[in-house]
Amino acid sequence: MFLRDIDIEYIQPCIVVPNRIRFKARLTDDITEVMPYLNSVIKNAVYNHDGKLLTFTKEQRLLTLYPMELTVAKALSSTDAYELTDWVKKLINDTYANKDKIKPMYERRAKPTPLEIYGWLPKQSGCRLCGEPTCLAFAAKLILGEKQLKDCPPIWEPGKEDLLEPLQGIMEALGF
Ligand code: SF4
Repeated sequence: MFLRDIDIEYIQPCIVVPNRIRFKARLTDDITEVMPYLNSVIKNAVYNHDGKLLTFTKEQRLLTLYPMELTVAKALSSTDAYELTDWVKKLINDTYANKDKIKPMYERRAKPTPLEIYGWLPKQSGCRLCGEPTCLAFAAKLILGEKQLKDCPPIWEPGKEDLLEPLQGIMEALGF
């Protein structure tokens, strides 16, 4: 077996989205070599080969894989967390087992839509501290690299880590 296990290190309640959780898990083995194959297999993946970071959504959850780490935001429950880690482990091992039949992709293949980014913003539309009329307009410019996360002051406020951390992962995967 390529990846022996994924061990959950902590589970925390999601501060921003009620009744959701976030968690972090450690991979027992380095998955760097399989990441370009996962990028090929996971259709909505955003992959940064140099940064060794691959992020994707599964339903409303946001999963980010690093060579030896998995972080998940907006998971449903502790049970969901354990089921997700099993699912990710199987995905990685299946991908590794079939890698001779998969064309690895070293390029970023997907870009999140403004609406997906919007889901991670504080949504204080009307505050306009970013200089945009709405959070959605800000999200569109963020993807294009015309705005940066630092331009949205509310997301840096204490208690917004559940939004900020996934967004930082996405922006990193996008190469910003
Ligand atoms: S500063 Fe942030 S919260 Fe305020 S409108 Fe812009 S994106 Fe939305």
